[in-house]
Amino acid sequence: MIVALKPDCSLKERAAVVRFVEQRGGRLLVTVLGNQPQIGLVDAAARALAPEISKMAGVAEILEAAPPYPHVSREYQAEATEIRMGGAVIGAEEIVVMAGPCSVESKAQLEAIARSVAASGARMLRGGAFKPRSSPYSFQGLGEEGLALLASMSVETAMPVVTEVVAPEDVGLVSSYADMLQIGARNMQNFRLLSAAGEQERPVLLKRGLASTLEELLLAAEYVVSSGNPRVVLCERGIRTFETATRNTLDVSAVPVLKQRTHLPVIVDPSHAAGDRVLVPHLARAAAACGADGLLIEVHNEPEKALSDGPQSLTLEGFAAVMDEIRAVAAAVGRYAQEAPRDAAR
Ligand code: PEP
Ligand code: MN
Repeated sequence: MIVALKPDCSLKERAAVVRFVEQRGGRLLVTVLGNQPQIGLVDAAARALAPEISKMAGVAEILEAAPPYPHVSREYQAEATEIRMGGAVIGAEEIVVMAGPCSVESKAQLEAIARSVAASGARMLRGGAFKPRSSPYSFQGLGEEGLALLASMSVETAMPVVTEVVAPEDVGLVSSYADMLQIGARNMQNFRLLSAAGEQERPVLLKRGLASTLEELLLAAEYVVSSGNPRVVLCERGIRTFETATRNTLDVSAVPVLKQRTHLPVIVDPSHAAGDRVLVPHLARAAAACGADGLLIEVHNEPEKALSDGPQSLTLEGFAAVMDEIRAVAAAVGRYAQEAPRDAAR
């Protein structure tokens, strides 16, 4: 529910509405849309006061059909949220490419991959140190050792690092090494983890759950933002359908739908959607064309030896080629992706 205030509503009248709701224990969100000040009635306690609020001075009308995720909704903030980390700005004109291995496996592996993707034009470095694996017998990640390797390659290559956090108690540790916290598909509705990520300052990359609707994704983002952290990026990474030819089904329409509903940036992970490196360039081009603000791509120097997600990991050369394609598509849709630094050896 949104309380639309009259254009000539005085500060005093607006403050009276805010006080009225707060004194009765309701949660609200005060915003200005265009020139129009408005007050969102966020929870049930606040919404119960609507009949009385509608009679207060300065109130134009009460809009019933507001989305249940006010902090992330376009109906409360029309301007796109831009998220800055080092040289990267997500949600602006650049299509920000984040690349790196599924898992950090060793210093030599991460060095080879990070140097190469940076030379090809990646803006951010990805890599898992804590891995949520379907099997308890699969490689679970190097933990803090992996975080330290990521942090040191971040300094060397000037790429901010995005890495996954799988448990609320690890949020402090991971945010002490990483520039951005990834919450993976399997944890999209781990509500304690979402709140913990909302109570610290690093931006959050929130991936869509394997079988989650876009409304559920937006509500998950609402947990993070309403806990105090406005810097959230949403990621479409493929959903589970009846199709078995691909690991998941990339929902391309998620990008324009989310961009209509939320001011948060939206990126695409073609690697986990495809499950097969041959398909990744096609999905990456589609994502760039349909309005994604960034891409998250798995790359490995020796994919056949990777400890996780080798089949979907691009080779170093494959990634360099995809970057060229992303740049071409970006230019065609009025955007750009970072050029490969001229002297760098790929
Ligand atoms: C990953 O990025 O390596 C990962 C585990 O992704 P998802 O949560 O989308 O499966
Ligand atoms: Mn992976």
